[in-house]
Amino acid sequence: MNADDLPSLRAELEAHDLWAKKSFGQHFLLDLNITRRIARAAGDIAGKPVIEIGPGPGGLTRALLEAGADPLIAIEKDPRFLPLLEPLVEWSGGRLRIVSGDALEADEAALFGRGRCAAIVSNLPYNVGTPLLVKWLKAGAWRGEMTLMFQKEVALRIVAKPGDDAYGRLAVLAQARCTAKVAFSVPARAFTPAPNVESAVVRLTDRADPYADLDALERVTAAAFGQRRKMLRSALKVLTPDAETLLRAAKIEPTARAEEIDQAGFRALADAWRAMR
Ligand code: SAM
Repeated sequence: MNADDLPSLRAELEAHDLWAKKSFGQHFLLDLNITRRIARAAGDIAGKPVIEIGPGPGGLTRALLEAGADPLIAIEKDPRFLPLLEPLVEWSGGRLRIVSGDALEADEAALFGRGRCAAIVSNLPYNVGTPLLVKWLKAGAWRGEMTLMFQKEVALRIVAKPGDDAYGRLAVLAQARCTAKVAFSVPARAFTPAPNVESAVVRLTDRADPYADLDALERVTAAAFGQRRKMLRSALKVLTPDAETLLRAAKIEPTARAEEIDQAGFRALADAWRAMR
C-alpha cells in the first residue's frame, strides 16, 4: 500500500472546495514526508489499534494506514471533510473508520471495544490540545502511547522540569502518568495555512509508577502554580488555612516555591492534602 498512488491532498481540497477554518484549529499537513515522520515517531503500529483526532484532509491518516494501523479510528468534528475521507475507507481495506463528532466528548474505549488498548496519534487542533491531553492522561487502561503535535510552547510546557521557565501544572500532570519527550519540531511553513508559531511532536509513554489520584494533583498544582512566585506556605492557603502543616506532612520546606518542587514532591503534597481532608 502506497499513499503516493492517491490524488494529492491539495488536489483533494480543491476538488471538494474545502478551505481551513480557524474555529476548528485547522492547519493542514499536505506533505506526506512530514506525516510519515509522525507515523514513524509513533513506533510500530502495524496491526495495532490507533485513534487519530482530526483527520481533516487525511494526510496523517494516509501515513498511519500505510504504517499498518488496524483499526484506525479517526474522529473529525468538521463534517465538511467526511466526503473527502470516505474513499480512504475503501483504500484501507476496511481498516479505517471515520467517526463524526467532538473528540472531547468521545468515549474512546467504547469505539474500540472495551479491554483493548489504542495508541493516539494526532496533529491536534491547537484550541483543544491541552484539554484533550488532560482527558487522555486521566483515561483508563484503553489508552496506549501518545504521539501528538502541539504548538511548541505547549510541547515545552509538557516536557519541562523543575527550574525551567515552562515548568508548571501541565508538566506535573503529564509526567505523573507518562514519560514525555519532544520527538521533533516542525516549522510553521510546513502547515497550510501557516500558523504564527512553530510546532513540535511530543511522545508520551506510560511510566511504570503512574500516580493514581490526578484530581488531587490537579487541585494542589492549581493552588501552587496559581501564585507561582509566592512561597508555598502562602500559595497553598487557598487549599487549607493550615498550609504549613500540609507542607510539613509532605516534607517540603514552607518557604519553597512551586517551580522548585519535583514530581515526587507534588505527589507527596497531593497525598498529604488527601489525608488532611
Ligand atoms: N490531521 C490533519 C492534518 O494533519 O493535516 C488536520 C489537522 S488540523 C491541525 C486539526 C483537525 O482537527 C481539523 O481537521 C479539525 O477540523 C479537527 N478538529 C478540531 N476540533 C476537533 C474536535 N474537538 N474533535 C475532533 N476533531 C476536531
